[in-house]
Amino acid sequence: LDNYLIEKVKPGCNAFTKEHAFVHSIESLATLDGPGLRTVVFMQGCLMRCKFCHNIDSTPLGKGIKYSIDELYEKIISNKSYWGESKGGIVSGGVTFSGGEPTLQSEFIIDIAEKLKEEDVHITIDTNLFTSKEKLERLEKIIDYWMISIKELDNSKHKDLTGLGNKRIVENLFYLDNLMGEGTKRIRIRFVLMPEITTPEYIERLAKFLQPLKNLDVVEILPYTSIGKHKWIELFGKYEFEHVREPSRGEVEDAGRILAKYNLRYKY
Ligand code: SF4
Repeated sequence: LDNYLIEKVKPGCNAFTKEHAFVHSIESLATLDGPGLRTVVFMQGCLMRCKFCHNIDSTPLGKGIKYSIDELYEKIISNKSYWGESKGGIVSGGVTFSGGEPTLQSEFIIDIAEKLKEEDVHITIDTNLFTSKEKLERLEKIIDYWMISIKELDNSKHKDLTGLGNKRIVENLFYLDNLMGEGTKRIRIRFVLMPEITTPEYIERLAKFLQPLKNLDVVEILPYTSIGKHKWIELFGKYEFEHVREPSRGEVEDAGRILAKYNLRYKY
């Protein structure tokens, strides 16, 4: 993987320093990015180019705002009083590392997460899981909750949709699940509902694929939105998903019913 990354990363890019992170933006109080009320750190850089991505400006490497561990730690911990106190297994809040793709900067995240753990902060990661097993093993020890996006099950369609194949992602998902043991409910799977692309047949296939997971908490349906279109036009001069419409409420509910048929807990 690292050779692959070196090929992809532009010369001079500092995406992998341990001492500094490159951050796209920070949202102080978010309600949709993990359990409870959360501070979300959107890390800069992602190797995928998902056609539906609404944060495409967070994907180029070597951009973003540079933070040291102490600087970012102070920014995160200053929100601690808003998160409230977790009680009886109900998580009231914490920090979520999102992106971009946070595992590209996993060395930094591991170090800052260790520091946050001293303050008993609940830590979530929102990832596409395109990383190495070695990094997964180290992250698994410190990350409390994993939000994992499954973009497409078919490898060639995945390549067309995101620019990369999914073999590594599928392997990593089950590898991570095994590392966790059983019944921890530390995995949330997310997928984007795109009419005519994520068809009912596809959702059935996804449900069957997810059933063997031993640590699944919930499946989250993310209705496709074109809000990121202007960012694509600015960066690349075109938006390939012009023809894709946003799903109706009924289509989202139908997707939920399919997941429920396979005894999967779902949300949207
Ligand atoms: S993995 Fe996430 S951040 Fe990267 S291109 Fe896809 S949707 Fe965007």
